Amino acid sequence: MISRRGFIVGALAMGGCAPAIVSKPIKKIAVTMDDFSLGFDLRLNPRERNERILETFEKHKHKAAGFVTGRFVDSVFGNEIVQSWSDAGHMIGNHTYSHMNSSQEEVGIIKADILKNDVLLSKYASYEKIFRFPFLAEGGTPEKVGEYRNFLAEHRFQNAAVTVDSIDWFTTDRMEKALKVDGTTDLEAYRTYYVNAVVILAEHFHNLAEQLGYTGIPHAMLMHHNILNALFMDDVLVALREQGWSLVDAKEAFADPFYSLKPETPTRGRSLLSVLAQEQGITDTKFPSAYRGFGKKTMDALGL
Ligand SMILES: [Zn+2]
Repeated sequence: MISRRGFIVGALAMGGCAPAIVSKPIKKIAVTMDDFSLGFDLRLNPRERNERILETFEKHKHKAAGFVTGRFVDSVFGNEIVQSWSDAGHMIGNHTYSHMNSSQEEVGIIKADILKNDVLLSKYASYEKIFRFPFLAEGGTPEKVGEYRNFLAEHRFQNAAVTVDSIDWFTTDRMEKALKVDGTTDLEAYRTYYVNAVVILAEHFHNLAEQLGYTGIPHAMLMHHNILNALFMDDVLVALREQGWSLVDAKEAFADPFYSLKPETPTRGRSLLSVLAQEQGITDTKFPSAYRGFGKKTMDALGL
């Protein structure tokens, strides 16, 4: 790698008047982890899983965001898990109490569910008024989207959009099924698949951001509190760094003005970048075909 310093020294050596430094924009990404569903206990139990996840953040000196679904952690043990995130300085955000689909339920029911979760999470020191819609479903119609936006603004919640979807929920679902059949299953192929998938998806959304003119934005990557990330998130972060990515703390990422953008088109489970692309008339046709349909065909072909 040619260092920035080396470049400057070289440029100065060429004759005093240094040319403008043209360098590739830095690729920045924050981990955001949803749900905190703590039931699955094969290979690692939920406490061990949480420890591994926090150790990985610690190793990478990363402060992530955890978007917590209240009903999954509304217990003595659940409280211990969320408290451990707060104590480690990771931002806690609201992901509703019940994890209903905001596009399908009545707006009033969802609003009450968000406020119920707000009461539950307010005791954690690192809790912020930041909210993520379950299934990234920000209301299915422009009217509903408008109602939710007004409600969130009234209660001072920021909407935590996603730019890079790791599609980890599908990968872990396949891996968990294999572990249920045989708890000693060799997971190496899942590791390889997942690491490659995240690197390719992150590059895709980086390129899409550049194409849309949002060069250099800090990306928010969607992951979940699951066994897949307990085992392999470290490999993912190492691989991303090898590809030139650097980690940016989630709180800092969401402070970027990019995350205040409010396209009129409903999100419908997508990256904010895909929604913006649609609004600019850019068809996101370059989305890697291997991960269309959540990567099902590719995983089938690999026997995963
Ligand atoms: Zn969720």
